[in-house]
Amino acid sequence: MVMKMNLLFFLVLLASAISSSLAKGSLKQTLVASEVNKCSNASLARHLLEDESRAQTSVNLAQGYMSNTDLERAIKEFGQRCSNISRIYSIGKSVNGVPLWVIEISDKPGEEESEPAFKYIGNVHGDEPVGRELLIFLANWLCDNHFKDPLAKLIVENVHLHLLPSMNPDGFSLRKRGNANNIDLNRDFPDQFFFINDDEDSRQPETRAIMNWLRDIRFTASATLHGGALVANYPWDGSEDKRTKYYGCPDDDAFRFMASIYSHSHYNMSLSKEFLGGITNGAAWYPLYGGMQDWNYIHAGCFELTLEVSDDKWPGAAELPILWRYNKMSMLNLVASLVKTGVHGRIYSSGDGRPLPGSITVRGINYTVRAGKTFGDYHRLLAPRDKYEVVATMPGYKSKNTTIWLDEGPVTLDFVLDPEISVKWSVLQNVYACNCNGKSKQEFVQFLGGAHLEVYFALIVILGFLFLLLQRRAKVKCSTSRHLPVAKRTVEV
Ligand SMILES: [Zn+2]
Repeated sequence: MVMKMNLLFFLVLLASAISSSLAKGSLKQTLVASEVNKCSNASLARHLLEDESRAQTSVNLAQGYMSNTDLERAIKEFGQRCSNISRIYSIGKSVNGVPLWVIEISDKPGEEESEPAFKYIGNVHGDEPVGRELLIFLANWLCDNHFKDPLAKLIVENVHLHLLPSMNPDGFSLRKRGNANNIDLNRDFPDQFFFINDDEDSRQPETRAIMNWLRDIRFTASATLHGGALVANYPWDGSEDKRTKYYGCPDDDAFRFMASIYSHSHYNMSLSKEFLGGITNGAAWYPLYGGMQDWNYIHAGCFELTLEVSDDKWPGAAELPILWRYNKMSMLNLVASLVKTGVHGRIYSSGDGRPLPGSITVRGINYTVRAGKTFGDYHRLLAPRDKYEVVATMPGYKSKNTTIWLDEGPVTLDFVLDPEISVKWSVLQNVYACNCNGKSKQEFVQFLGGAHLEVYFALIVILGFLFLLLQRRAKVKCSTSRHLPVAKRTVEV
């Protein structure tokens, strides 16, 4: 009976997909077709960079998709229905004044906890609307299952999950890639290689909203949902010389691991013929500049993936439930990986036991993860490997390091740091209060913090010796001449 129902469902979908393809007059591969032949899906489509003429399709495309008004209603209804595990808030408005609504899902929404935070962002490109629908599916599934499904429970209880279904509601309503000002939002962020988008005032409101959001919330990881291919893309997105080549970031291993979690949990992403294992380095595919992914990693401490979740940018709405089914485990497993893998812990002061907003580095990886101000908690994603040397630092405290063995599961590692001696700390505090810019201040303090006590002691001895020597010379000079200012200058030394 079940098999018959499945067959019937399959035939109905096949018929609708064929009619949809014919109606659009294109040979676009449909999901149903890919279901027939799992391995033929990946190499046919790459529509990410094509011009907008293709997107100027009929209004019929939107049929079955939520309008911006529908989406706002769905988000608010969700907030009411699942108020015990969610909070609805806006991070700003689009060019045309549409609020950028976010759903936060957690057992303590809106409260700060010593837990990692993850964000999903959909509809970065206006003509790639699948993500905004998937995120509503995801929110509702978590709400319906967090008492009975272990994975849903794990996420709700241990992660703060933030969902922004549409970053580009104006582009969606205009059926185009860019926003209302025709700007590609995934090229509007400051870039590490080229001086673009550095003028804050000229950035788009949607971009500014994301950047401010990341100042407010310390996200451990995130993913944006796109369409036009089927692959999990990881940093770097750009290359220094603009050449198309593999250009990995310091956390290349961790990113490959994250991307593989998504592709291998997906119905058919990992079977791609175009991308080995269904993952790709961004610059190896095609370099881009001003992207959101690299900016997240560099400036916000957030490990972000760019997920291409459907070959067809704007598939018929009838395919949405299948797309949800294909992506469901990937979306859940990626969020859960924040607590099922990596190194987590807190940093404390041995003096008074208070949490410290210190830093965590891993020997051999040029990247720093910040601990939280309130709880001193840190969440460091790492690919499972034999061992890592983890170092905790905090200005004014002696740094500590330890070696951990990281297999498949997570490791909890707390650090209790000893304050440097009080005399030194008062010197540091004075230095810290100097009137220099923030960055050099930090570096100077860290420099001092890293030096040994013996160096300070030796300096004091040398200065004392010089003081006595000069005093003696001054006395001799005073006895042979009447040049009094010399004596005064000696005192100042
Ligand atoms: Zn896109």
